[in-house]
Amino acid sequence: MNREPMRMDQAFGLMHEAVRRVAAEVASPHAADVDARARFPSETVAALREAGLLSAGVPRELGGAGCTLHEQAQLCATLAQACGSSAMVLAMHFIQLACIARHGLGSAFFREYLRGLVTRQYLLASMTSEVGTFGETRTSVCALERKDGRFMLNKDATTGSYCAHADAILVTARSGPDAPGGDQVLVLVTREDCTLKQTTSWDTLGMRGTCSPGFRLESSGPEEQVVPGAFADSSAQTMVPYSHVLWSSLWWGIAADAVNRAANFVRGQARQNPGTAPPTATRLAEVSRQLQDMKHLWLSAAHDFDAMGTGAAGQEQLLSMGWALRLNNLKISCSEAAPQVVHRALQIVGILGYKNDSPFSLGRQYRDSLSASLMISNDRIAAKNASMLLVFKDTP
Ligand SMILES: Cc1cc2nc3c(=O)[nH]c(=O)nc-3n(C[C@H](O)[C@H](O)[C@H](O)COP(=O)(O)OP(=O)(O)OC[C@H]3O[C@@H](n4cnc5c(N)ncnc54)[C@H](O)[C@@H]3O)c2cc1C
Repeated sequence: MNREPMRMDQAFGLMHEAVRRVAAEVASPHAADVDARARFPSETVAALREAGLLSAGVPRELGGAGCTLHEQAQLCATLAQACGSSAMVLAMHFIQLACIARHGLGSAFFREYLRGLVTRQYLLASMTSEVGTFGETRTSVCALERKDGRFMLNKDATTGSYCAHADAILVTARSGPDAPGGDQVLVLVTREDCTLKQTTSWDTLGMRGTCSPGFRLESSGPEEQVVPGAFADSSAQTMVPYSHVLWSSLWWGIAADAVNRAANFVRGQARQNPGTAPPTATRLAEVSRQLQDMKHLWLSAAHDFDAMGTGAAGQEQLLSMGWALRLNNLKISCSEAAPQVVHRALQIVGILGYKNDSPFSLGRQYRDSLSASLMISNDRIAAKNASMLLVFKDTP
């Protein structure tokens, strides 16, 4: 039978429908247990795998769905309305996948790896943070060593989300033993290539299901697993834009879940007194506006990023200060707004939002949203913006 090739929007429509199903049927019913026990959301990740969602960002020519950043952000936002930790796992996986898909396609190894990811639905984690560099992703202490076509890489990471559950980790390191801290490469370390020793615990306020303790990584593998090019470029052109957009989209999803619960509460009050708007309705209108502002920020950044395409001019533009400032501002704005929105939703719901065992409970959403400003500290990002603005003359 001659089948019409599926259009991009159809492929995304199917992916989005699948995420909605996973969110409603799997992530949401398990979210409280994942949070309470600080355990990996294994059922949700299994369902995402089953639906082929882990390869949403793999280019179509390699068998994936070829979803754009704008589309991937919508997938994360939808899942976050059910479970913030699951959405963060999906977002972090998409970020790593994008680094390979946008910088590794010149390598036969990485093209084949992505084909394998489509069929086996590998889960990718990230190790940028390190003892001695903390939240500064653009500096490494550890160094890659190369010998006889193989690499050796050991790293003491302060925070490694779901590393114990991932099929592979993308690890930053200095490009060689004599390289300065900022001369970094990104290395794909598969589970078979490494040993991981957990060095710290992960008993946190929120994002408990991301399971992100410190790890000592010892690894060795074929040299072809080093992502081509400098990490300086893949960071600016891919890791930072994907991180700031996808994180913002999922923080919005957490905030939207809180507002949705507040809206249900207000509608319940309204039903008790038909014909009159309860006083909380005005507060609901105000918080909905803040939520909408937040959404516009990540949607427009994702849209403009996709519109730049993958050509040389677009990639050059991504290295500009204007784009760096815009993405940094997006991250700071959404990470500050998310807990504010949840807080306002809590003021609307009152004690039923404060209780952990009520259908209007907002504890998990509140605690999860508090991680946003710390995940690459806003102070660190603001300091970078401040230095750029000393020389950048256009309006960002
Ligand atoms: C949920 C979650 C998941 C994570 N997952 C991963 C992961 O999978 N892989 C990974 O590598 N990392 C991960 N991280 C770590 C993250 O990337 C950062 O490394 C980490 O959050 C920064 O830790 P820090 O606050 O100790 O460091 P820092 O950024 O050093 O901040 C420490 C303190 O110094 C202040 N500060 C820092 N710079 C400045 C400045 N220039 N001016 C003023 N004050 C400043 C900050 O405000 C803060 O108070 C995760 C973090 C979270 C919250």
